[in-house]
Amino acid sequence: MSYYHIWTIGCQMNKADSERLATSLDKLGYKATPDIDRADLIVLNSCVVRQSAENRVVARLDLMKALKKSSPDIVLALAGCMVDSYTTGLKRRFPHVDVFLKPGEFTELVELAKTRAPKAARKTSRIHTSPTAFVAIIEGCDNFCSYCIVPYRRGRERSHPVAEIRQQVETLVEQGVKEVTLLGQNVDSYGHDLPEKPDLADLLKELNSIKGLARIRFLTSHPKDMSRKLIEAVASLDKVCEHISLPIQAGDDEILRAMGRGYSVEYFRELVQRIRRAITSVALATDAIVGFPGETADQFQRTFDLLADLKFDTVHVAAYSPRTGTSAATKFKDDVPSSEKKRRLQKVEELQSFVASEINTRLLGQTVEVLVEGKKKGKWFGRTRTDKLVFFEGYGDCLGQLVNIEIKKTSPWSLQGLVKA
Ligand code: SAM
Ligand code: SF4
Repeated sequence: MSYYHIWTIGCQMNKADSERLATSLDKLGYKATPDIDRADLIVLNSCVVRQSAENRVVARLDLMKALKKSSPDIVLALAGCMVDSYTTGLKRRFPHVDVFLKPGEFTELVELAKTRAPKAARKTSRIHTSPTAFVAIIEGCDNFCSYCIVPYRRGRERSHPVAEIRQQVETLVEQGVKEVTLLGQNVDSYGHDLPEKPDLADLLKELNSIKGLARIRFLTSHPKDMSRKLIEAVASLDKVCEHISLPIQAGDDEILRAMGRGYSVEYFRELVQRIRRAITSVALATDAIVGFPGETADQFQRTFDLLADLKFDTVHVAAYSPRTGTSAATKFKDDVPSSEKKRRLQKVEELQSFVASEINTRLLGQTVEVLVEGKKKGKWFGRTRTDKLVFFEGYGDCLGQLVNIEIKKTSPWSLQGLVKA
């Protein structure tokens, strides 16, 4: 038996890529192992969206040096957004890495794995062990927000055909999956590059008819591409969850312009209102960057005030991190001191803890539908259609089931409840 170990950090797209690679390796007869010392094949699926993520990848690569020295037969692969088109620099920096794979491009490794797969290995078909799965529907990004490295590493937008996605989802459902999350860096621009030009609303309608599938989510939506048709589709299709991820990034028009986001604060506010009017009890998540070059105290305050006013269910806040090769890193000085970035980040986090606590408190005493994803510290856990994490006790094996839970306790980050008889 040969073993593989995949280490993944970064966005959901990276997680989806790792899942896909795992499926290919399983089919060759390899077996996954959490134990790195046991693996014949090690893959580090990297992220370089921020310096902090890149540092973690480098630390892991450095750790691998000793392992590779003691067991030179191990195949070590570096995959994901750290790998650009010119790998010469990476090869020089990390000579102990055997294979470099651009984001989502695993063919070279799979071919290599084929030559090493033990002859006696029994070919297995993979069974999805979780009731939820990610499905990439559009690769790459055309937006080139000034701060972001993703378009340089993941290339231009390429949509998968509707029929191919339907087939993939049907296969997952046959394996017990109840919920799929459709992924794209810019998921709501889905289909513009396909011959029939379907859009995300069309795709949602198609997938909504799959028997046995209970829930559909999608992320991440770009505000400028969120159409009325898509909002209506979310409002009317029963399997599509009331949960939209809509990154604002900044609450100041000048900063939004410098970021190259393609919308104004007023447009974003109206969009949020439109979504909230159309979709009852929708949960909204957003991303924000603090300390973008030139961001003054007043400009930050406008972002803070907007977040306080719009009250998102979730806010992912990040301190600006200059990425070599992006236009922001070339054109602007990273002039907000890191202590000030940290202060702004903490202010947003404190605000969000308050807002989320207020939103979640409203769920006290209500009954919510939870798709059970697993067990942690003796308690079952799962998510509501609005993506709230719920823990509950005292029930038989309910993995993968939809269970009604009455909420008894809330916090900004999760809910606790009891099974409603
Ligand atoms: N496509 C999505 C969008 O339009 O926002 C998100 C994808 S991006 C890879 C994920 C998040 O990383 C972004 O929302 C942004 O907040 C953050 N991010 C990207 N580049 C960054 C940078 N240079 N510094 C700090 N945060 C960054
Ligand atoms: Fe990056 Fe902007 Fe594309 Fe999102 S939309 S991946 S932030 S370039």
